[in-house]
Amino acid sequence: MIRDKSGNYQYTGCIHMHTLDSDGTAKHEEVIAIGSEVGLDFLLFSDHMTLKSREKFSGYHDSLLVIVGYEHNDPADKNHFLVFGSPAVYDPEFSARKYVAQCAADNALGIIAHPDEKRPEDGKYPPYQWTDWSVEGFHGIELWNQMSEWMERLDEAGPIGKLTLLFSPRKFMKAPPVETLRHWDTANQTRPVVGIAGVDAHAFPYRIGPKTVTIFPYKVHFRSLQNHIVLTEPLSKEPVQAQKQLLEAIRSCQLFFSNRRRGDARGFQFVARSGANTALCGGQLEKFEDSRLYVSTPQRAEIRLIRNGAVILRVHSDELEYSPSEPGLYRIEVLRHGIGWIYSNHIRIGISDNF
Ligand SMILES: [Zn+2]
Ligand SMILES: [Zn+2]
Repeated sequence: MIRDKSGNYQYTGCIHMHTLDSDGTAKHEEVIAIGSEVGLDFLLFSDHMTLKSREKFSGYHDSLLVIVGYEHNDPADKNHFLVFGSPAVYDPEFSARKYVAQCAADNALGIIAHPDEKRPEDGKYPPYQWTDWSVEGFHGIELWNQMSEWMERLDEAGPIGKLTLLFSPRKFMKAPPVETLRHWDTANQTRPVVGIAGVDAHAFPYRIGPKTVTIFPYKVHFRSLQNHIVLTEPLSKEPVQAQKQLLEAIRSCQLFFSNRRRGDARGFQFVARSGANTALCGGQLEKFEDSRLYVSTPQRAEIRLIRNGAVILRVHSDELEYSPSEPGLYRIEVLRHGIGWIYSNHIRIGISDNF
């Protein structure tokens, strides 16, 4: 945890990982030890269709907060959905529409996983896309999925590129898919929907000739796509309360995420102010008159200001101030050398909400 320049508390962690409970390759204990070693503040586990380790591992492990949720899929193995805080695993026969609605009714946190995944055309690994956008009640979208992007690059790469991908898996990470960002910006037109990054860690073994290498060991994953939660109060020392606070902060979009390989993003700030009112990343200001946006980044980079899904300003700097001339959904993307580094959630300015 760090305090940012405004005195808010920033917690950094990873979301979406698998263990031996489903198709991952390590035990919870091992993954938690790696998370601690990397210095993360939280880990959100999501094995496929099981919560059997929830009681055993939920809570603090020294200063690392663990939440065990799960990843739901429909009977056709599409529409993968990350669920945290549900009373149990939902019926495997449920349609996507039904488990999304049930998750919302249970006040659990539900996030659409890797919605626009593409996979090599040989059919060996089919893509697990989101097919039913008529669902109602999801809280978030996994905008950037490390495993999905890696598989997509593998398909494009020649033989030498494939080897580089195996041994330097983070090198090719570029940005979340454009179509996923579009889905997210559109969903936010009617209500806040959080955008997160998922590592989708499995640490799969991969055979090249006589050798087996591990694609993305957990440690590499944890040093790639990180989520940063911004809170005005620190997390409780009491584990049940802390888990609630963390899930609530994610649901409220108080989050930005980063590609750690491009730099340590802790301390990044995106706030909006109007008179005595302040909106943090994910928040809202009722009036747009006299409002002003403030961005600061830990290092000089290309800062893009986006309004309602369109880039309206680009600067190379470590800070940006801007007075909005119209209401809208504002968010920030930060790039280094053309590669995606930091993505904020939206601040809603002057929008009368119906939620
Ligand atoms: Zn999945
Ligand atoms: Zn997964």
